Amino acid sequence: MFKTLVFEISGVCNARCPYCITGNRSGGTGQERFLDPARFEGALDRLLAQGLIGPKTVTHLYNWGEPFLHPDLPGILRILARRNLRFIISTNASRPMSFERESLPFLKHIFISAPGFSQASYDRIHGFQFGTVLENIEGLLASLRVSAFTGKREMLYHIYQFNLDEIALARRFCQDKHILFSPYAAYLNDYNQALSYLNGKMDYALLRRVSQELLLFYLDDLLAAQPSDYVCQQFSQLTLDENCQVLTCCVAPKNHPDYALGSVFDLSAEDIRTRKVSQGICKECLCAGVAWWTHNPHVPGIAQSRPSKLGRLVQTSRQLTLGGMLRKLAGKIK
Ligand code: SF4
Ligand code: SF4
Repeated sequence: MFKTLVFEISGVCNARCPYCITGNRSGGTGQERFLDPARFEGALDRLLAQGLIGPKTVTHLYNWGEPFLHPDLPGILRILARRNLRFIISTNASRPMSFERESLPFLKHIFISAPGFSQASYDRIHGFQFGTVLENIEGLLASLRVSAFTGKREMLYHIYQFNLDEIALARRFCQDKHILFSPYAAYLNDYNQALSYLNGKMDYALLRRVSQELLLFYLDDLLAAQPSDYVCQQFSQLTLDENCQVLTCCVAPKNHPDYALGSVFDLSAEDIRTRKVSQGICKECLCAGVAWWTHNPHVPGIAQSRPSKLGRLVQTSRQLTLGGMLRKLAGKIK
């Protein structure tokens, strides 16, 4: 039984991340593609009947798409709730977010991905209005408070060279809002880009941009540490796309011949179990180090430190109104 089911409900993302296959629009037609709730229900029931998923399975409602773009997310969540299946969601926080009361008990974890903590950083990667993202996070937190949500809230902060100075601000924001803060070095999550970088075949213009934006100083050491008997953790998770295709994994790109094993409605449980771990792409991926890099995100020492007193002061002065500052000072005097 797979304990992790990755099920893409939105085959599209509105962000423009240049190192993501969805964001850079290299992985498809650019058309909006959403998982049909009836097919989602059918796929879940088939996987349950086949014994491939069960009560302990947690469904991740995203791969490289934005789940809050789905036109019937509440309907998708009701389908999970009726089967007592828990779910995890990850969002870029570009859209207002809320959950129906009946679905919340099944929400285990919500991730918010952030490419920095300023408008300048959002301009470079996601392409969203930073103020709107903050408003949406505040709105989400307010709705979770009302519903006494007990699962985890976590910000995945993608570290680039240009947002190092913003780590402390983002950390402080998360501390204030009781959000777990998880910074790590952004990597090339577009398989073809990662492969071309590792094989020394990357186009010069892209290589130039990568060298100016990503932190990569650790990469040779990381690759040297890959165990010779490394087993990719994707082998133990089940991944489906918005068309109910069972995928090799969540890394293989749509334009690769080994992208999918076939439709979940055609494949037997045995087909899925055996074919998932015998795809040609895995040899190429493991030899180059793509899987190892993808599954071992680097956390630089600077990201682990607490914000300096000056950083905290700047953050506090940015966040508080004059009245709030006076109340804070009064609290200190007491
Ligand atoms: S990295 Fe995430 S937010 Fe960025 S384009 Fe890809 S799916 Fe969207
Ligand atoms: S080795 Fe690479 S292609 Fe194969 S399952 Fe792992 S991440 Fe996917």
